[in-house]
Amino acid sequence: MEKLKAGAKELGLELTAAQLEQFDSYYRELVDWNKRVNLTAITGYEEVQLKHFLDSLTVTLGWTPQANQKDFSLIDVGTGAGLPGIPLKIAFPAIKLALLEATAKKADFLHHMTQKLGLDDVEVVVGRAEEAAHQPRYREKFDLVLSRAVAALPTLVELALPFCAVGGSFIAQKKGAIDEEITRANKAISLLGGSLREVKRVDLPSLPGERYLVVIDKLSPTPEKYPRRPGLPAKRPLA
Ligand code: SAH
Repeated sequence: MEKLKAGAKELGLELTAAQLEQFDSYYRELVDWNKRVNLTAITGYEEVQLKHFLDSLTVTLGWTPQANQKDFSLIDVGTGAGLPGIPLKIAFPAIKLALLEATAKKADFLHHMTQKLGLDDVEVVVGRAEEAAHQPRYREKFDLVLSRAVAALPTLVELALPFCAVGGSFIAQKKGAIDEEITRANKAISLLGGSLREVKRVDLPSLPGERYLVVIDKLSPTPEKYPRRPGLPAKRPLA
């Protein structure tokens, strides 16, 4: 995990030997399960360290976790194989983490992985964001909502912001040019009770390519009717 270790340093994070061992175990299980369950197209040892693990940790450029901060809760919407949620939980063990994933087989992997890594305070939620976000247990309950590679921003805002507590924030990890996507998302952001704080370019020597964090603050409660029923946020994005 040398690539990850060096890249994390660029973020100001010192990963311990025990944490690097956890990442190594995560890598091995990911590649093994990937033979049976479609989890990722990226499987090379160095590529996974950088494009999955380090990329997940770049969220810290938009949110500075306090060491040992208690009761800080985070939900990763459409986490897939656990990205970015699991790398963040390894790096910051004190956070309370919910991993939301619609596909049952991927959720099986998440259960397996959190057990294997001995991670406490992780809840795997199997289901769609459109439904989970209406359950009182999850609605407006999280300090931070994260999502990577799930949907275009206008759709994503409707899926993610309902989970965010007022006063909390949502960070979307995005690749490639995003100006136009952000313009299209303005309406959804304000309808859902959010406000765009910043679009931060991720500029790390270890991670080439155009990457951004879109940081949205939750200023007021999301109206009850959002998110709309499953599929609608993608089919008819708010505009
Ligand atoms: N965040 C991961 C996975 C990206 S793929 C990563 O960066 O690698 C997108 C994932 O989101 C898929 O696993 C898909 O099943 C899940 N997903 C898509 N729409 C969803 C929804 N409405 N609710 C919950 N999960 C969803």
